[in-house]
Amino acid sequence: MDYLGFDAYEKSIRPTGSSVVFMAREADEIVIICAPQEGGAPDALGFTGQDIGRGRLRVPLTHENAEVLRKRFPFTAPVRGLTRDRSFGVGDRLGIATPGHIRVFETCDVFPVFAQQSMRELNLTGRTYEEVLDAVSFAVFREGFTKGFGADGDHLKTVEDVEYALSLGFSMITLDCSDYIKSEVAEPALPLSQPYRDKYLNQTFTLGEGITLSFTEQALRQSVTVYGAAIGFAQDMYTRFFKHTRYEADFEISIDETATSTTPLQHFFVARELIDAGVSFATLAPRFCGSFQKGIDYRGDVAQFEADMHIHGVIARHFGYKLSIHSGSDKFSVFPRISRETRGVFHVKTAGTSWLEAMRVVALVDPSLYREIHQYALSVFEEAAAYYHVTPDLTRLPEVDALKDEEVPGLLDDDDARQLIHITYGLILNKKNPDGTYTFKDLLYRLWKNHAGLYAEKLASHIGKHLTLLGV
Ligand SMILES: [Zn+2]
Repeated sequence: MDYLGFDAYEKSIRPTGSSVVFMAREADEIVIICAPQEGGAPDALGFTGQDIGRGRLRVPLTHENAEVLRKRFPFTAPVRGLTRDRSFGVGDRLGIATPGHIRVFETCDVFPVFAQQSMRELNLTGRTYEEVLDAVSFAVFREGFTKGFGADGDHLKTVEDVEYALSLGFSMITLDCSDYIKSEVAEPALPLSQPYRDKYLNQTFTLGEGITLSFTEQALRQSVTVYGAAIGFAQDMYTRFFKHTRYEADFEISIDETATSTTPLQHFFVARELIDAGVSFATLAPRFCGSFQKGIDYRGDVAQFEADMHIHGVIARHFGYKLSIHSGSDKFSVFPRISRETRGVFHVKTAGTSWLEAMRVVALVDPSLYREIHQYALSVFEEAAAYYHVTPDLTRLPEVDALKDEEVPGLLDDDDARQLIHITYGLILNKKNPDGTYTFKDLLYRLWKNHAGLYAEKLASHIGKHLTLLGV
């Protein structure tokens, strides 16, 4: 809309003190405008920018200005929200998905975590946590989303990385304990200490809802061997960052990135040990049975998943935290079961699906560019597969150059093609020409900018489908 002669984003217009602040679209850029209100004195409010006359300031979207924005308009800063029954993390590797995500979360009662990125994703996209958070703050301001959102330092493994995320104001930390989780086959079983024996053997734990658990000596030894060091690590990190309330953030324990699934007994053991050690956490992510591969539906025995989920749900309710379901992108066949077995109390994370929807937009509006990227992805698939566990059968893929333009978008509904494109995002974005310019990145961002409305629409309907099946 036209506002004070600018092409303004209507929902962004916010009077504050003697000024009014809003976002405006220019030919090649989006900026913040800080202007005096009718008869008001000019006030920059702390923003740094260019004086464009009449007391108005043209504010570029820099990190410094994002920090001012978060201070001046607290709804643009992340807050804790994992105590809400339903929360949902939507990673955005490109920094352009939040407007589409907002369309979904504006209308439903789920706490959104708009900023959610792992170190692996940061490394593969060459982005920083500053950029990840700033992109979300600007989008939230632009769309006038005032309901609150979270920022998750996802799958962090080191003191430095946790400190980095928290120092920027991230409202959630997902501690990845996988480096400390031992493989029970590779590891010699440790002798069982007497305190463990006294605490766990020769008794039955009644969890309610008709569920009881009891440990055999072997099951207990396994639990200690596999998870002992991970529990110690989680305890150390909790003590360092949260015990003396240096930081306010939701804490998630992730034990999901392992080769074997977490048995109910192991889940119970980990939770009991952490809670007895005084570690307080909002969510725990076990590794569920079956296969949770990126960007495609659940693979495995759905009935067994449901039975497993039931016990995991009972354990979480018994101790009073939520289950967190990772790699939640596109797990449509199990969402209704997750909703039922958690009684609608869950945290679900998706990440790559927003990238896949972005590539769907490419396939729709520029099939030739999509074909070129697809061919490149095929050529680097082996390299990318080192970072992600996926098992597509690339021989089943149709020859992309032989597809008609209108057939190209259909590839984004094909599991093998989805996985191919899903895991090669870092290599696609970073591919350079001999002269040092990006082969695809700049073209892609320009395309997404020109088709922002289409992207938001595709994303909203795709994420909306996730939430509908989760019973929201
Ligand atoms: Zn995970």
